[in-house]
Amino acid sequence: MTNDRELMLAFAGEILLGTDDDDNYPDWICDDCARSHGGRWPEGHVATFHEDTCGWCGESKDVTQPRDWGYPRAPEEAAHAAD
Ligand SMILES: [Zn+2]
Repeated sequence: MTNDRELMLAFAGEILLGTDDDDNYPDWICDDCARSHGGRWPEGHVATFHEDTCGWCGESKDVTQPRDWGYPRAPEEAAHAAD
């Protein structure tokens, strides 16, 4: 049981750490949204795209994770900045 508990705690910690950066981000964003919000694809970076619903524009497109784009500024933040 001790091992299970340690695994659970490690897993919980991973989730907490992981969601820290991802709080304001959808799971997937498309190329167009990423670029239009200042996302930058690191040179030589490789990620897997697949077709899914973009968390920002809601269209079904080739999407990948926001972190692959260096966490571009989310639309909500952009809207606040424009206020
Ligand atoms: Zn999009």
